[in-house]
Amino acid sequence: MKTMLLNRKKPSTAHIQLSIDACTACWKCVEACPNEVLDKSFLYIADTLIDMHAFVYDANKCAGCLRCVQACKFDAISAVR
Ligand code: SF4
Ligand code: SF4
Repeated sequence: MKTMLLNRKKPSTAHIQLSIDACTACWKCVEACPNEVLDKSFLYIADTLIDMHAFVYDANKCAGCLRCVQACKFDAISAVR
């Protein structure tokens, strides 16, 4: 039986704020980010996937280009002002 808990909810950098509740896990922001700031988070309990969303993997690399904001069609990422 596989048991894996991986659900990293860190939601922001100096330049962007990510709403995990609004995230549909389409991964467009992950693909759009040139600096690998964003990554995919999966929460499994036993073999059942119960949640997935984008998260901030390395906030220090965020350059504020806002490509992730433009890529998200669900208004789940906004610029920090
Ligand atoms: S603002 Fe640019 S560098 Fe920062 S997370 Fe978004 S796409 Fe990546
Ligand atoms: S583009 Fe928006 S909805 Fe898609 S994974 Fe990123 S934050 Fe979530």
